[in-house]
Amino acid sequence: MTGQRLRVNPIRCDAYGHCAELLPELVRADEWGYPIVSESAVPDDLLDEARRTVAACPRLALFLEQAEDRAALESALQANPIARLTRS
Ligand code: SF4
Repeated sequence: MTGQRLRVNPIRCDAYGHCAELLPELVRADEWGYPIVSESAVPDDLLDEARRTVAACPRLALFLEQAEDRAALESALQANPIARLTRS
């Protein structure tokens, strides 16, 4: 596993589902076309495909995130309720 996870910014996403077509192993489209990305870390053998899919996103809505970054953020938010309330 790479330690990276796919994420999507639903505000930016146009919901045409290109990413689900390009990377069905990790992304599926919901009934409106919005991507549902796997919560699991991207397997090593799909990392290049995941990078290509991210690069192909026309709205720059799809990105890769280090799993440790998310864990650190969630931990910080748990420790600081004010940050959680003001998080955008
Ligand atoms: S390719 Fe990008 S804009 Fe299109 S559905 Fe996927 S995340 Fe949304």
